[in-house]
Amino acid sequence: MAKLLEGKPIAQKIKEGIKQEISALGKKPVLASIQVGGDAGAEAYAKSQKKTADALGIEYQFHKLAQDTIEDKLVGFINQLNVDESINGIIIQMPLPAHIDYKKISQFISPEKDVEGIHPANIGKIVFGKADLLPCTPAAVMELLNETGMDLYGKEVVMVGHSEIVGKPIALLLLDKFATVSVCHIGTSKAGKLEEHVKKAEFLIVAVGKAGLIKGEWVREGAVVIDVGINRVEGKIVGDVEFEEAEKRASIITPVPGGVGPLTVTMLMRNLLKAAKLQQK
Ligand code: NAD
Repeated sequence: MAKLLEGKPIAQKIKEGIKQEISALGKKPVLASIQVGGDAGAEAYAKSQKKTADALGIEYQFHKLAQDTIEDKLVGFINQLNVDESINGIIIQMPLPAHIDYKKISQFISPEKDVEGIHPANIGKIVFGKADLLPCTPAAVMELLNETGMDLYGKEVVMVGHSEIVGKPIALLLLDKFATVSVCHIGTSKAGKLEEHVKKAEFLIVAVGKAGLIKGEWVREGAVVIDVGINRVEGKIVGDVEFEEAEKRASIITPVPGGVGPLTVTMLMRNLLKAAKLQQK
């Protein structure tokens, strides 16, 4: 039976470090959070971020803009925050109203204040192994892998999912550890080759958003399984991997919820601290 790799205790340790560094900084870092419209999910996420920020000695500035805010006005507001020296980081809450293109808008955040690590300049730095501000979910996955204490050098790693802010950056970070990385996606499934790839994985990371996509019986004996997926099934949150069967075969597996999730907000706060320190220089 696999050992459960939970995010909370790791997050707790990292938060302790962040707290200490913030008190040594002598000044509260400031995170500006923008929500457009009144989406309940976005509001709940912002509230939980504020709670974490408060506990760490971070000032959380919440800006709620009207549902009908046009893109130009939002860009103008982002620019205002970009030039405001009292602000160290900027985050845009999701989901945004349908008339706003998140990919386009997020590029207006100054790369130095991009605490979500999603600006093309920050994503590009990953290719060179020089990222300061990593996207939060990939950073969380790397922390979990680090916690296993296992060396990725030369290992067969299979990344299922190739989105810009999750799958692709994770694959690049794994290459930097000299893992042999296969990246699977919808094309792999359509070609009927997903099972074949997954079966090879000594480390399996899944970020798709489809409950039960990865059959437990595909998991290689002794594999490390990191399930990033979040799906709501019959009122319950589950991952992309069939947990019960996978747990019997893996050596280490993350639960959903409770695996990657608790670490992502911690990674956001760690990025804010890094941003504040970089801006001080
Ligand atoms: P996305 O929709 O941008 O990308 C999905 C990826 O899955 C794509 O690469 C696509 O090709 C691939 N895919 C779709 N169907 C497939 C199939 N049948 N077989 C193989 N690959 C398939 O999603 P995302 O933003 O990368 O998020 C992925 C999942 O991770 C979602 O469930 C999301 O909720 C979750 N997520 C969790 C956290 C966290 O903190 N735990 C953070 C971000 C995302």
